[in-house]
Amino acid sequence: MNSLVATSRNFRQAARLLGLDAKLEKSLLIPFREIKVECTIPKDDGSLASFIGFRVQHDNARGPMKGGIRYHPEVDPDEVNALAQLMTWKTAVVNIPYGGAKGGIGCAPGELTNSELERLTRVFTQKIHDLIGIHTDVPAPDMGTNAQTMAWILDEYSKFHGHSPAVVTGKPIDLGGSLGRDAATGRGVVFATEALLAEYGKSISGLTFVIQGFGNVGSWAAKLIHERGGKVIAIGDVSGALRNPNGIDIPAVIKHKAEGGVLKDFKGAGAMDANELLVHECDVLMPCALGGVLNRGNAADVKAKYIIEAANHPTDPEADEILSKKGVVILPDIYANAGGVTVSYFEWVQNIQGFMWDEEKVNMELQKYMSGAFKNIKGMCKTHDCNLRMGAFTLGVNRVARATLLRGWEA
Ligand code: GLU
Repeated sequence: MNSLVATSRNFRQAARLLGLDAKLEKSLLIPFREIKVECTIPKDDGSLASFIGFRVQHDNARGPMKGGIRYHPEVDPDEVNALAQLMTWKTAVVNIPYGGAKGGIGCAPGELTNSELERLTRVFTQKIHDLIGIHTDVPAPDMGTNAQTMAWILDEYSKFHGHSPAVVTGKPIDLGGSLGRDAATGRGVVFATEALLAEYGKSISGLTFVIQGFGNVGSWAAKLIHERGGKVIAIGDVSGALRNPNGIDIPAVIKHKAEGGVLKDFKGAGAMDANELLVHECDVLMPCALGGVLNRGNAADVKAKYIIEAANHPTDPEADEILSKKGVVILPDIYANAGGVTVSYFEWVQNIQGFMWDEEKVNMELQKYMSGAFKNIKGMCKTHDCNLRMGAFTLGVNRVARATLLRGWEA
């Protein structure tokens, strides 16, 4: 299912549970502003290459719009729109004073050299610099981008507006980045998992995990699960998938990749069909990569008892229905992966205050925000007699609706 249709369907269901006015519902759904820019760069060999960049600013009722910039071949307007909308609900779920936005460039970053990526990022920034800003819209890394990308955006933006570290988050520490930001999404996923499992009298230790995606989010989540005694029995990324029923040595996989190795060539586990990963026997399944991976084609075969949505919208609504009938508990994306944007908020606060926190404080505050949000979601589940996804959506949408109504429409 198209990602925008799927995301909007969840929103509408929450709006109905909340009894929102139909006009307000419509206005919350339509993005504040959609930007589409053409970015042409000279490649290293002198030829020209053109790419389309997007920034969708979805809502700013609760504060500056916030969200990552993705470099991926599948970036298209609907996908960026859906992801921007999810950011609005996500920042509201964890109660940080932001709205939602998302950006992206349709490109294959692995096929571009470092200097081509730098040129592309600078051209994109030149085209959107007037529309982003510390108190309007604050980009961050997402799939295919990283701290270096943010450093280029910061540098290019600063040529127009003066040095402004808080205009992006997820920066290198040397440029005002926050300690703990790199690990934050994965760490938040683990805090969220612990909060959920505690409800069932369980903990990470002793449970089996399957992790799809081994980029920033998947590898940090896997490392922290491994440290807590969880058994990661299968992992996979675009190169392929690996399994070891006795548990994969995650620090060794991370070392193998840091040394330039490809995940599928890691020797401490057996190869498996990457399509089998999502339906592999386990207690907890964590999709940590692209959206829509759980759909009506595979949902009936999922064997996990818990699904933690570390990726954005990995479960489409048809799969949601099939999985909930099977009794699978799903921890939704707008809560499960909110650790990244939460620590982005801490980074922005540190930049504005001009005061750097130590990592212990960052992690402690993150845990506070994640466990507080879980309690609030459970409260909404009780009030509206709904599942965790609708608990999170009603929590987020209600906060945004309240802020919108309080601000009013008077011209
Ligand atoms: N890209 C991340 C997300 O999808 C982080 C966004 C941010 O830090 O602004 O939540």
